[in-house]
Amino acid sequence: MLNFDFYNPTRICFGEGRIKDLDKLVPANARPLILYGGSSAERTGTLAEVKAGLGDRDALQFGGIEPNPTFETLSKAVEVVRNEGVDFLLAVGGGSVIDGTKFVAAAACYDSDPWEILTTNGAKIKSALPFGTVLTLPATGSEMNNGGVVTRQSIHAKLPFRSKLLFPQFSVLDPTKSYTLPERQVANGVVDAFVHIVEQYLTYPVNARVQDRFAEGLLQTLIEIGPDALKKPDDYDVRANLMWVASLALNGLIGAGVPQDWATHMIGHEITALYGLDHAQTLAIVLPAVLEHQREAKGKKLLQYGSRVWGINDGTEEQRISAAISKTREFFESLGVRTRLGDYQLQHDTIAPLIAQLEAHGMKKLGEHRDITPEASQQILEACL
Ligand code: NAP
Ligand code: FE
Repeated sequence: MLNFDFYNPTRICFGEGRIKDLDKLVPANARPLILYGGSSAERTGTLAEVKAGLGDRDALQFGGIEPNPTFETLSKAVEVVRNEGVDFLLAVGGGSVIDGTKFVAAAACYDSDPWEILTTNGAKIKSALPFGTVLTLPATGSEMNNGGVVTRQSIHAKLPFRSKLLFPQFSVLDPTKSYTLPERQVANGVVDAFVHIVEQYLTYPVNARVQDRFAEGLLQTLIEIGPDALKKPDDYDVRANLMWVASLALNGLIGAGVPQDWATHMIGHEITALYGLDHAQTLAIVLPAVLEHQREAKGKKLLQYGSRVWGINDGTEEQRISAAISKTREFFESLGVRTRLGDYQLQHDTIAPLIAQLEAHGMKKLGEHRDITPEASQQILEACL
C-alpha cells in the first residue's frame, strides 16, 4: 500500500425528509445564496422545499448554472456574492451545480484573476466561503469531495481544480429527490460512478486489499442495481443504494494509498468541451479503449477485476482480459449509454482537435504510469471510433 493522508470533513445527512434539517445545518447568522441549475429544482419543488427548510432566513438565489458549468456564468454568481455580502453558499442540484458552487466559493475570495484557479488546478486557493449541498443527482461524488470541473466556454477548455478548502460542510442526500431524473441522467450517474471506481482500482497492484475489496463491492453494487435504477424510478432502496455508492466512489476512501489513473476522465473532458457530449457518455466511450490500450500494464488487475467482479475464470489470461473489457462495454450499453464515437456522429476528423486541446491543457502524460502521451491518446481515440 502507498503512503496516504485521508481527510474528509463532509457531514452526510442521509434519508427522506432531511431537507428540513437545513435550518440547523446552515449557521444561524449566515447570509446564504442558493445556487441551482436550469429548471429542474423549481419544477420538482425541491427549491421550495429548500427555502422552507431554511426557516426564517432571507436567502438569495442564483439559478441558471448549466450542465458542465461555465466560468462565464459562475463569474456572474461571484459578483452577486460580492455585491450582496453573501457568506454561505448552498448548492441544490447535481455535479454541475455543486462543482460550480465550489468554484464560486473559491473565486469570491480570490484576490487576482479567478481563471488562475483553473489553470493551476486549484493550487493557489488560499481561502473559500463555506458551503453545503442538497444533492438531486447521484453520479459525481462532488457532494463529498473537494474537486470540481469548470468549462471556459469561449476557449472550449474544461479544467479540473481541487483544494482542501473545498469540501462541502454538509451534504443532504435524500434519495427521493432523484425520482424525477430522466433515464438518461440515471444511466449517466451509474456510468460516472462506475468509472470513478475503475480509475482508482484498475491500476497496478500495491497489495491494498481493503481498498480493492471496497472497490469491487461498490462495482458489484452498481452492476446489481443499475438495471432497477432505470426500471423502477421510485424504488427507495434502489435509489438510496445508488446515492450512497456514488458518494463512496469518489470521497477519498477507495483512492487512499493506491495508484490512480484518470486518463479516461481527462480525455473525456476534452470530448465534452469540444463536442458537447454528456460527461458519462465520454467515459463510456473512452474507458474500454484505455483498458485495451493498457491491457499489459493493467494485466494483473484486469484479471482480478474479471474474476471478482464479473466471475470470469475460464480461458487464457488474454481471453479473460478481453472478456473483462467486453463486459464493461456491454454493461454501459445495457444502460443505454453508447460506447463509440460514431454513435454520437463523431468521425476520424474529430480526433486531431481533441489531441491539440489535450496538449494545450498540459495533459501530455496521463495514466498511473504517466505514459499516455498525446500519441497514445491518439491511438486510444482511434480505437473509440
Ligand atoms: P448535471 O450536469 O449536474 O445535471 C444534468 C441534468 O440533470 C441537468 O440538466 C439537470 O437539470 C438535471 N437534473 C438534476 N437533478 C435532477 C432531478 N432531480 N430531476 C430532474 N432533472 C434533474 O449532472 P451530473 O452528472 O451530476 O454532473 C456532471 C458534471 O459533474 C460534469 O461537469 C462533470 O465533469 C462533473 N464531475 C465532477 C466530479 C467531481 O468530483 N467534482 C466528478 C465527475 C464529474 P437542471 O439544470 O434543469 O437542474
Ligand atoms: Fe466523473
